[in-house]
Amino acid sequence: MTVRTRIAPSPTGMLHLGTARTALFCWAYARRHGGQFILRIEDTDLERSTEAAVAVILESMRWLDLEYDEGPVRQTDRLARYREVIDRLLAEGKAYRCYASKDELEALREQQMARGEKPRYDGRWRPENAAGRTPPAGVAPVVRFRNPDHGDVAWNDLVKGPIVVGNAELDDLVIARGDGMPTYNFAVVVDDIDMRITHVLRGDDHVNNTPRQINIYRAILGPGVPLPQFGHLPMILGPDGQKLSKRHGTVSVLQYRDDGFLPEAVFNYLARLGWSHGDDEKFGRAQLAQWFDLAHVNRAPAQYNLDKLLWLNGEYMKEAADARLAELVAPRLERLGAVLAGPALVDVVALLKQRARTLNELADEAMLFYGPHGVSEALLAEHLRGAGAAAVRAFAGRVDTVAWDKAALNALLKEIVGELSVKMPQVAVPIRVAVTGRAQTPSLDAVLHLFGRTAVQSRLAAVLPRLP
Ligand code: GLU
Repeated sequence: MTVRTRIAPSPTGMLHLGTARTALFCWAYARRHGGQFILRIEDTDLERSTEAAVAVILESMRWLDLEYDEGPVRQTDRLARYREVIDRLLAEGKAYRCYASKDELEALREQQMARGEKPRYDGRWRPENAAGRTPPAGVAPVVRFRNPDHGDVAWNDLVKGPIVVGNAELDDLVIARGDGMPTYNFAVVVDDIDMRITHVLRGDDHVNNTPRQINIYRAILGPGVPLPQFGHLPMILGPDGQKLSKRHGTVSVLQYRDDGFLPEAVFNYLARLGWSHGDDEKFGRAQLAQWFDLAHVNRAPAQYNLDKLLWLNGEYMKEAADARLAELVAPRLERLGAVLAGPALVDVVALLKQRARTLNELADEAMLFYGPHGVSEALLAEHLRGAGAAAVRAFAGRVDTVAWDKAALNALLKEIVGELSVKMPQVAVPIRVAVTGRAQTPSLDAVLHLFGRTAVQSRLAAVLPRLP
């Protein structure tokens, strides 16, 4: 048997982090077992589905490098197939048309609630109950699946273990709407059969759908034919223990891209959300594809932790190639209004990447080299008087002649420390402020070296007249 998994998002907005995590696990499971991973777009809800959202799904999958072996399969391309199966179920008496109006069903619901019963469809249009009644004119009927009345539905969930649900709990589900569109629980079964899916892994918000789907599988396939295995992945919770949502911050995959995260960091982070491999925190796609198993999917919900993602991203930034970082940072700098004259961006990125946790932070830091020069009155007053002013003057006096490499610049700073009989920070901080307009930067010799002699000269020339 070849393992075949799928991710089946509905194109109604962004790709949610939780869906991406499910996709990752499906991808990893297929890769681990030498199988196939398929993308299906569940777009039968015509009112809520948009082409823009389809594009967002494809772009999110591409960004995370979740390569699929088949698809995207679109449900709206398969309407004739659903129709065919519905007609067959109708002909075999496994489904029937129901003409109950919304108002009628609402009244039924209210009566049941008033009696303290769980609201459920009462089977009023089942053929044996509707005998002799004429369907009301002008009503487009829905099609309902005739759920078995007795017995249990059982499966051994790959994550949650054995689950048993009594058929008495399940009513006759609508499988096609009045306009003929199939509903989720029906289309998903036809698709998973036709696509020969062997492992249905999805969020555990679907666990209540599974017994209904299993009954539909049985009705379509008959007894004895093996069904896919089901595994329901625990939710991702926000820091307050509620299901992760926009309230907790960013949940859109592409927003993480825009916020300056690297795809491999998000990938790694998602892999660890509800699954573990010993104490390993940092690992890549190849390792996940080798290690992933369902036995180590936690049964308890996973907790989202932005600090951990920031940490991981910082780690991946440190090891990312400078040229790649420069390419990713350049458009961000442009948005910050940078003037890309000055030192080469690859060199700037190489100097700053150790300290930034995201590309956006890296861009903010890089503005040191590409933003306008200016020393605020506050910094001037705090750092550039007394010994501070003397240090800047001493440095400015020798800036034309010192050799422009880090070692020589460093030696010069030490010389000034000696002459003024002060400590290094009392020399380095004022010079840093005078040249960069900031009190904190990476090491001063490296910063000066990158700026280049001419830029440092002109920056000092602008500040000297303001010194006391
Ligand atoms: N379209 C469903 C969702 O996005 C798919 C669920 C499934 O995997 O069966 O939740």
